[in-house]
Amino acid sequence: MTKAPSLIDSHGRVLRDLRVSITDRCNFRCLYCLPETEAAQNFYRGRWANLPDSQPIAWKWQPKSKILSFEEIERVVRLAVSLGIQKVRLTGGEPLLRQNLEELVARIARIPGITDLALTTNGFLFPQKGPALRDAGLRRISFSMDSLDRANFQKITGRDGLEAVLQSIGLARELGMHPVKVNAVIIRGINDHEIEALAEFAREQDLAMRFIEFMPLDSARAWLKELVMPGREILQRLQARHTLRPAPRTNPSETAQRWSFADGRGELGLISPVSEPFCGHCNRLRLTADGKIRTCLFSVVEHDLRTRLRDGATDADLIAYLQSVVLQKEDRHHIGEPDFVSPERSMSCIGG
Ligand code: SAM
Ligand code: SF4
Repeated sequence: MTKAPSLIDSHGRVLRDLRVSITDRCNFRCLYCLPETEAAQNFYRGRWANLPDSQPIAWKWQPKSKILSFEEIERVVRLAVSLGIQKVRLTGGEPLLRQNLEELVARIARIPGITDLALTTNGFLFPQKGPALRDAGLRRISFSMDSLDRANFQKITGRDGLEAVLQSIGLARELGMHPVKVNAVIIRGINDHEIEALAEFAREQDLAMRFIEFMPLDSARAWLKELVMPGREILQRLQARHTLRPAPRTNPSETAQRWSFADGRGELGLISPVSEPFCGHCNRLRLTADGKIRTCLFSVVEHDLRTRLRDGATDADLIAYLQSVVLQKEDRHHIGEPDFVSPERSMSCIGG
């Protein structure tokens, strides 16, 4: 019997998880991603005792002609699944800005071999889109919500959107999506005073809350190590208030260390890529909205799949290309080390 082809990197990691960014555009300006608002600039200006040497990323939206069509995305996902990818997450930019997203969801949901299809969104447009996405086959969703305070939410995201996101979380639950996860990037001096309230929200609402460390992927290159709230510190603060039980790891490539509350309602997860890197178990590959393959969030090279897709490459050509690219997957990131080089594009372009 011949063995099914797979995506194995040169460190022996088998890739199972594909993150697909479907647009680089966004309707928010998050302080840790696209810090362009006055509030974001004031926050960083006040903290830059030593200005970083690097220049802000000069970014502009990609022209539509460079963005992969649904047909192209579906083809890449099918090929990746034939190579062992099982999980697909749609992201961006803000994925709900992509017209007729439900059509793409339906196309991907039909691909045999995908065990997990999920979406990450800021949630602002979900009240309009939710039912169609569920009907198209979306079952798992993660919302980004970094604050439960209306003014602080606006300071962080640049939008007065807290009510809309809370409504979206409620709607996702009504639509029977499971799990509904909520991601919060915790930044010292911005929303670290809200950790307890966010955890309480997860327990009250019986949701999975993920606390994420701030990574150097913002377009202003304003990241400073001192702004990172280490996952361990967050955990200690929460343990002072709640009895938390470690949840068993279901998969070694899981990014979150998960904890459950004593009463069994809600779940907390700590995603600590800066203070406790999990690169050794990374099984992720990324496709950007403009058709570049990235083997790591922090890759400084991108691999041009779009040109091949549009130049008539056969499925066999594309499979061989994907396998050769995966062999170049970095062993680990170098955040905080003297040789660390920021990627040329911000998180909104890479797809988180
Ligand atoms: N716009 C959607 C959203 O915000 O959920 C999807 C794309 S966003 C880039 C995906 C995830 O990346 C979000 O949960 C966001 O909080 C996270 N993110 C963005 N910039 C980050 C940074 N510098 N460090 C850590 N997480 C970041
Ligand atoms: Fe915020 Fe997501 Fe938009 Fe970045 S892509 S600015 S994280 S909503």
